[in-house]
Amino acid sequence: MGGRIGVPSAFGGGVLSITTSGFEVGEGSAAYSRRSGHRLQLLCSDLSGIPRGQQVPPADNRIPTGRVAVLSPHLDDAVFSLGAAIARASRSGSTCTVVTVFAGDPESTAQCGWWDRQAGFGSEGEAARARREEDRTACGLLGAVPLWLPFGDATYEQTVEDGQIWDAVAEAVRDAATVLVPGYPLAHVDHLRLTRLTLERDLPVQRIGLYVEQPYAKRHAGRRAWRRPAVPDQLRELLAQPVAWTSLAAERRDRQAKHRAALAYRSQIPLFGRGRVEALGRLLIRRVALYEAIRGGEAVAWLKEP
Ligand SMILES: [Zn+2]
Repeated sequence: MGGRIGVPSAFGGGVLSITTSGFEVGEGSAAYSRRSGHRLQLLCSDLSGIPRGQQVPPADNRIPTGRVAVLSPHLDDAVFSLGAAIARASRSGSTCTVVTVFAGDPESTAQCGWWDRQAGFGSEGEAARARREEDRTACGLLGAVPLWLPFGDATYEQTVEDGQIWDAVAEAVRDAATVLVPGYPLAHVDHLRLTRLTLERDLPVQRIGLYVEQPYAKRHAGRRAWRRPAVPDQLRELLAQPVAWTSLAAERRDRQAKHRAALAYRSQIPLFGRGRVEALGRLLIRRVALYEAIRGGEAVAWLKEP
């Protein structure tokens, strides 16, 4: 399968190139593997309004080296957001740790929060155990090491002090040279809390970066994926200067590794829409990939560099 088709003007016009695998980004066009005309139309609708001649931002070819820690509020955020960058860094010799802060208590017999209940779990412990296994599989596919902190997410209404969370986070990233935290859109209270804690305190690491969170950035952007991410107002006063977003270079094999890893979160995928988990997962990941193709890749904003 391959070729180029005209995109209806209702969907922004231009040309969509069809190839047999993955995205290839050219000048203002995206290539995408599709067998279903219906789904192709759905994806074309995502392209609606892209200015003609839209250039993909240049990607940053520098790979985070040494020990890299990606702070993930929940069990899936880091992989959905930075899976390709993690895969690339890992195969280039970096040691990548995915630190999930609100990974739940696997020993707990407490009733589920509403999110985990929707996913079909009966207790906090059952959810934490199953979701950690999904994360173990996903991280393994990217060459990363998972590290889980036992805090409950916001749906558990626990009263954990900021200081308690921060002490555990600081210990978890103690050896890291680079630490990445969520940066956009920060629409979830747990994501915002973790990033606020990181910015309020001073981590003794060489590099700190904000990352664009998926699939929320895609959802937040709707059909305006070409627009730059923006740091929420609540955090601006904690930043010394305006941030500049940079796309992270990745190869097709890294994007494919991310795709496979994201599909490991089988309990979470049904919560993002309706449909069979396999089909919904593929659609979800491809929509994220389309957003990233338009934006030039997964993105970070470096706050502190050596
Ligand atoms: Zn999350």
